[in-house]
Formats: sequence, structure tokens, C-alpha cells
Amino acid sequence: MMEVIDLRSDTVTRPTAEMREAMAGAEVGDDVYGEDPTVNRLEERAAEVMGKQAGLFVPTGVMGNTIALKLHTEHGQEIICDSRGHILNYELSMMAWFAGCVARSIPTSDGLLDWAKVKAEIRPLGPHAAQTGLIEVENSHNVGGGTVYPQEQLDEICDGAHAMGLPVHMDGARIFNASAALGIPVSQIAAKLDTVMFCLSKGLGAPVGSMVVGPRSLMDRGRLYRKRLGGGMRQAGILAAAGLIALEKMPARLVEDHSNAKMLAERLSQMPGISLDPAKVRTNILIFDVAGTGLSAAEFSARMKPLGVLMIAFGPTLVRIVTHYDSPLKACSVAAEKIQEMLDTL
Ligand SMILES: *Cc1c(COP(=O)(O)O)cnc(C)c1O
Repeated sequence: MMEVIDLRSDTVTRPTAEMREAMAGAEVGDDVYGEDPTVNRLEERAAEVMGKQAGLFVPTGVMGNTIALKLHTEHGQEIICDSRGHILNYELSMMAWFAGCVARSIPTSDGLLDWAKVKAEIRPLGPHAAQTGLIEVENSHNVGGGTVYPQEQLDEICDGAHAMGLPVHMDGARIFNASAALGIPVSQIAAKLDTVMFCLSKGLGAPVGSMVVGPRSLMDRGRLYRKRLGGGMRQAGILAAAGLIALEKMPARLVEDHSNAKMLAERLSQMPGISLDPAKVRTNILIFDVAGTGLSAAEFSARMKPLGVLMIAFGPTLVRIVTHYDSPLKACSVAAEKIQEMLDTL
């Protein structure tokens, strides 16, 4: 049987042997009563690693963002974010459904905001305008192509927002990828942020789970929103045990995913009809334009499927590839060869 190389997303990673073992032996209790020792340990460690007071374990990143947006806002406010942000495009309008807010979105070339752009969109409450309640940033930026905020640019947004009394939340689903790309600890990235959501699944490999971190008072209230959303889990220590390994052991190897992505980007950039700038590939996500091949993105990925390489159509002619630990260097090289093979048939 042909082995499938699945580059659709880092969400396809399966838990490591060490995770499965830790899950089997996890000490558990009823987390709705706050009595699961493994969940408690994970929440404490996540807060510590991010340099925040407290953490909240949630089943998914969407739930984590939903809770955070609600914590910072009131119904009828606006949330400033970039126009291709995950919270605006991939979370079923939860900011409207749960927090009662609308997005004030800002177009960008790479998904990254800067203070001048943000400042221009901040609104006080008036007879016509709804008040800005929150600034949201995404790092690394998924649809932007795994782009990473220069730390000064992010800090400037936080300083500016705070001076105007506004909080900043980061959708840091892949903050550890940003950290690996920048070569600085996640706590430094998060230093000025009010809250951060990050995923233990995806590149860190846990089967399920994300974290929200921030001030203890907010995380205590977040626990109630989690319950409202159906996220009050019982013996969740089984999952937290894998999450702890994701948090402690997996970040160090993300540089490998990044160098594999870089290798793929360099090879793809030399193929006729494919356009991308390898210099822009900073993390484990690469997005390339296949317009020059005469194929649509959907046709391109459909033609790769029988060759055993899976990727995602991300726009009419944009294709996304994501590297991860289940696609090591060798698999990535084979993927590049298969893409060339497919192009040769055109
Ligand atoms: C994956 C992802 C999330 C969370 O998604 P879940 O599937 O709910 O865990 C949030 N933001 C970004 C940028 C993501 O890529």
C-alpha cells in the first residue's frame, strides 16, 4: 500500500508513544470540581511557561478563543482583527454568537497588524459608532502563510492599546512555531499580551486540547464560560497527560518542521508555474500560487491525491502545505518529487 504523505495540516499529527503511555497511566479526578490533578498541573505549567498567572484547559482552540473574546468584551462592541484572521473566518462567527460583537477587520498583506493601522480603527462609543472592546492578533498567522510578528511590532500594538485602556488577545494556536522562528521564549512573545490561546494539538502533537492563559480573575470567569459552551470535562487528565508532554517536550523539535518547510519552499519555487517566495516561509506553513500551471488550486491538490500527497486548496489558485512531525524530511522530499512528477504530466 502506498504510504500517504499528509501535508494538509499539522492537525493530522497523532499522539506519540510517550503520550499514549502517559495517558494510560494518568492520575485523574473530576475536573468540573477542580479535582483532576493532571489537568491542574497542566494549567499551572502552561501559565508558567507563558509567564501568566493562570491557565484554562479547553477541548479546542475555537473554544479557547471564544472564551477569551467574551472575557474581554461586552455585547455590542467591536473587535479589531486582521481580515484573514481565524476568529473571523473559521470560527462560525462565535464572536457574534457568544460575545455579541462584530469584527472591525483590517486588510493586510501577510496577516500581521501594526499599531498605526490598529489605532486608526479604534472607536469610542458615540451616537453612531460601537465602541472597540478588544484588539486581537494571530501569531503565527495561518492564512498569511505562517508569518510571525516581529516582537517590537507586537509590543507596540500592546503598549498603544493599553494606553487607550484596551486589552489585547493573541490567537497563538501556533505561538510555539512563532517562538521557534524568532528564537525567543513564548513568555517573551506573550509578555505584554493580556490573554493567549494556544493549541497543544497541531504541531505539538497532543490528540486533543488547547489552553487559554492570562490573569487568574479572568481564567476563573473563563471556567464558567467553558461550562456554558459544554466544555466542562470530567476525567480530562487523560488528555492533559498528553498535553503536558506536548508542552514540555515537543516545542524543541519544531525547528525541524520549519527547515522541512523551507526545503519544500525552495524546491517548489524552482518549479515552472508555481510561485512563492521561500524567504517568506518562516514556520511550518507554506502557501503557493499555482496559477502559472494552468490548474486551479482544487485541481492541483486533486491531482496530487492519487500520487499519495495531500494538501489543501486555500483559494482559487492558492495551495497550502503544512509540515509536522509525521512528515519528516524524507517524506517532504518525496512530496517535492511527486509534485514535480505531476507537473511533468501537464
Ligand atoms: C487551528 C487554529 C485554531 C483552533 O482550532 P481548533 O480546531 O478549534 O483547535 C485557532 N486559530 C488558528 C490560527 C488555528 O490555526
